[in-house]
Amino acid sequence: MLADSITPGTLKSEDEHRREICTAGRWIHGRAFVASTDGNISVRLDARRVLTSPTGISKGLMSPDDLVITDLKGRKLAGRREASSELAMHLLIYARRPDVHAVCHAHPPIATAHAAAGLALNKALLSELVISLGCIPVARYGTPGTPELSEALEPLVQDYDAILLANHGVVTCGGDLLTAFFRMETVEHFAQVSLASELLGKQVLLSGGDVEKLLGARARYGATTAAKVSPDCPVTSDSLASAACGPERISVTREELEALIEEAVRKDRALR
Ligand SMILES: [Zn+2]
Repeated sequence: MLADSITPGTLKSEDEHRREICTAGRWIHGRAFVASTDGNISVRLDARRVLTSPTGISKGLMSPDDLVITDLKGRKLAGRREASSELAMHLLIYARRPDVHAVCHAHPPIATAHAAAGLALNKALLSELVISLGCIPVARYGTPGTPELSEALEPLVQDYDAILLANHGVVTCGGDLLTAFFRMETVEHFAQVSLASELLGKQVLLSGGDVEKLLGARARYGATTAAKVSPDCPVTSDSLASAACGPERISVTREELEALIEEAVRKDRALR
């Protein structure tokens, strides 16, 4: 294995998992997906143990013996440091998703900006994104490091492999560490493309038929995503067109609204 690489799969020794989590830490820090000591990464070691990054250290500066082993309830089994403060979020995902063996949490800037704006990355803008993740929803806000965050994630973890955390960041998961890391990279890249196309002032979405064909090709591309597909995930040109046929929307200024209310009140008084 190359010194600074992560290989696919999960059949590895504990030492290899430790080295690879440190490599993933350097990658998320080196790509500015986190600042300071932010972010956390974990791997499911076996049916009862999780290996996680520790709290309070830059993810770019971890060494293998900084990592912590806990059970699936978060009780420390080994390690001189303390486990990540966001471990509960990882444990929720492991509990609900037997197919998941690695979780990555980071704050990549453009994806996190979408999370701060409450905007899901759910438009059918890129064919590869439809294949790999489908769409990326936003979980409602929950205070980091508290059960609120897990409660906010709970309705989504079963159906999505990448989730924006409102006013916070991103969590991704996968069948192995490389997949979880790649999904983090994909989320930030898609967020950048999405923002750039927004700035260009024009987004041409794929149609429902295009999306159907891409979903049919998932197996051919080896895509393993759990992503649910629904009429608004991802949003297609067809779903936008049918939304446009919905109830008519109008906009009024504050002055116009006040004038309308005043007039209604005046008419009401005149009738009494
Ligand atoms: Zn965070």
